[in-house]
Amino acid sequence: MSGPYKRLETQVVHAGDPRPRIDGAIEMPIFQSATFEYRGEARYDDVRYLRLNNSPNHLALHAKLAALEGAQAALVTASGMAAITTTLLTVLCAGDHLLAQSGLYGGTHDFVTREFAGLGLSAGFIDADRPDTWKAQLKPNTRAIYVEAMTNPLLQVADLAAVVEFARAHGLVTLIDNTFASPVNFRPIAAGFDLALHSATKYLNGHSDIVAGAVIGRSDLIERIRHKANHLGGTLDPHAAFLLNRGLKTLVLRVRYQNDSTLRLAQFLEAHPAVTRVHYAGLASHPRHERARRLFTGFGGVLSFELQGGAARADEFASRVRIPAVAPSLGGVHTLLTRPATTSHSGLTREDRLRLGITDGLLRLSVGIESTDDLIEDFTQALA
Ligand code: PLP
Repeated sequence: MSGPYKRLETQVVHAGDPRPRIDGAIEMPIFQSATFEYRGEARYDDVRYLRLNNSPNHLALHAKLAALEGAQAALVTASGMAAITTTLLTVLCAGDHLLAQSGLYGGTHDFVTREFAGLGLSAGFIDADRPDTWKAQLKPNTRAIYVEAMTNPLLQVADLAAVVEFARAHGLVTLIDNTFASPVNFRPIAAGFDLALHSATKYLNGHSDIVAGAVIGRSDLIERIRHKANHLGGTLDPHAAFLLNRGLKTLVLRVRYQNDSTLRLAQFLEAHPAVTRVHYAGLASHPRHERARRLFTGFGGVLSFELQGGAARADEFASRVRIPAVAPSLGGVHTLLTRPATTSHSGLTREDRLRLGITDGLLRLSVGIESTDDLIEDFTQALA
């Protein structure tokens, strides 16, 4: 965005919000109206109707999100999965093939593996760490490549620069789920991706009080995705749009604090005798630590770890901690703890989980904005 809103800290507060301010209101008001007076709009997508994603609350968010990721355009949706499915259904047509990173977020993985065939689509899963193996998976009908900034729950970091290079060489649309990094830690558009996807439920909103999604990137693609979204109807409600806009204003403060706090917790856990393994790209012991340092400005607010004693000890730990809530989801102000084998990855067989490296006792921690010292004291008593 041009003008005075140059840096992320300023953009999260001001970009996209109407100027002049509406009746002087400092905060963007909620336009709780399903329809608006007809002003001679010529195209269906321009008719001002709430499902068509063009209320003032939607337009403000689109401009803010595009500014945050340094992109041409953005679209908000009713959930992260609405953004992901609508985008894939736009970029791919019946007969097309997708290359996808193995170990994707469960909802995306299930959509690709369970819904694609019925829609005439196909997909192949790649080891995102081994670019030399990708070409063998390429088909004449491959149209796009889909990866995640950091995988859930093991925080693996793919060779994202190689993904962009490979896609350029083979004319593929590049899609990245940037939920775990957020624009504070990774800027996919600057790195050469065509589209960045988000579960805005997580860091973008940051308060665990709405479900929302976003797709951000090239304006020609966003226009087509919006047209598809207008048909499929997964539109964000204006009140949720207001909350997302408000949540975004503290994104930079929250995520930077969470980066610092999570690194300290990862170091604490790694040094604790009851902990056998910690997965966090900010640790020097992470196999892709150097790559993560090159790509990201921070390593995010999620880590996972294993305790001696496996699942039983993990459940005992979860019952003893006093600050974290035991709940799925991530990216909010509250610290949340979950055991993926029983929640996000319970849909997979045990063999499939173990093949991905998700042991029965693995715990995933989404660090909130509480005092790091309080969390360390709480973990110390729970591990004792
Ligand atoms: N992408 C990632 C990385 C996620 O973790 C999630 C949800 O956990 C989603 C997408 C789906 O988002 P939503 O739950 O907002 O539909």
